[in-house]
Amino acid sequence: MSKDFYEILGVAKNANEADIKSAYRKMAMKYHPDKNPNNKEAEQKFKEVSEAYEVLKDPNKRTNYDAGGYNPHGNYDGGFGGFGGGNPFGGAGFGDFGSMNDIFEEIFGGNGNRRRTTNTQRNRRGSDLLYNLSITLEEAYSGVEKDISITNLYKCADCSGSGANGSPEYTTCPECSGKGKVKKRMGFFSVDQLCPRCSGEGKTLKNPCKICHGDGRVKKSKTLSIKIPAGIDNSMRIKLNGEGEAGVQGSLAGDLFVSINIFKHNIFMRKNDDLFMDISIPMVVATLGDKIKMHTIDGKEIELSIPEGINNGQTLRVKGKGMKVFNYNNYGDLYVNISVETPNKLTSKQKETLREIFNIDENQKYKIK
Ligand SMILES: [Zn+2]
Ligand SMILES: [Zn+2]
Repeated sequence: MSKDFYEILGVAKNANEADIKSAYRKMAMKYHPDKNPNNKEAEQKFKEVSEAYEVLKDPNKRTNYDAGGYNPHGNYDGGFGGFGGGNPFGGAGFGDFGSMNDIFEEIFGGNGNRRRTTNTQRNRRGSDLLYNLSITLEEAYSGVEKDISITNLYKCADCSGSGANGSPEYTTCPECSGKGKVKKRMGFFSVDQLCPRCSGEGKTLKNPCKICHGDGRVKKSKTLSIKIPAGIDNSMRIKLNGEGEAGVQGSLAGDLFVSINIFKHNIFMRKNDDLFMDISIPMVVATLGDKIKMHTIDGKEIELSIPEGINNGQTLRVKGKGMKVFNYNNYGDLYVNISVETPNKLTSKQKETLREIFNIDENQKYKIK
């Protein structure tokens, strides 16, 4: 099984992360089994592409692979490589997550991570939940831990999620007579539909739990502590495995996704890892130059040197005073846009002095640029 992952994804050996991601996206969309029903070749191709991406997206695995040390059976389970098993983003860093999710939303219409499970399992697995969490730019800069309170379907404590009163005993589902499907009339047709009573299992509990009535789940509120890493950006999502809805009768729980929204800041404007701010300085400061004290996003004070003769609209860069770079131990820069204030309330003495100092004659009044 020696394959060239770069060749499979159609990227160069020195392709960067973004190239790899984008190549994978295209391939995954093209070869996805949903788009190619009963096409073994496409399915095989999809597996290969997924396997290649699984390795190349991870800097450690990629280095290993480049060095010839990659073992295809090491931590990869073949097949859809974890796409179906309820953990489609297994091992993906936060940074990866946003765009991985886009792929799934495009291909599967938002619920892709359950594609490989059967209808029955899908119906019984707990739903994924999305929680929108807003934080300040300062919190995004330094990272923060937030408590969130969610009301959700959790495993019933009374029956430990089994849904049964005591050990589960079953009887054939009266609704579908054990077939797991029921016919639903649609005009002239009738279509098979998953039995709503037994979720396709074909059997129902003889002795349902008195608290959850056989579902295995009850509605409860819970407070969760969410660790938000420094440098997180808008629309990134944090995944908490198994913190979504509990599954029916002890089936797999869904996951909880926390989507981050960063409040607009009244001083700093963020663009990726850099910050931008606008200040205005008096004409005299612009003309003569000066040092000004100001606060940066980390709350510390810096001294910004205004060079002599700075013009309106010029930008000064303060290195390393931007945002923390997500997943890396470095920082973006701060860009300070300067606007120069022209004085508009001068005394006649000040006006006289200015005229004397600068002594502008007719030819110097303007220049065409
Ligand atoms: Zn049934
Ligand atoms: Zn119960």
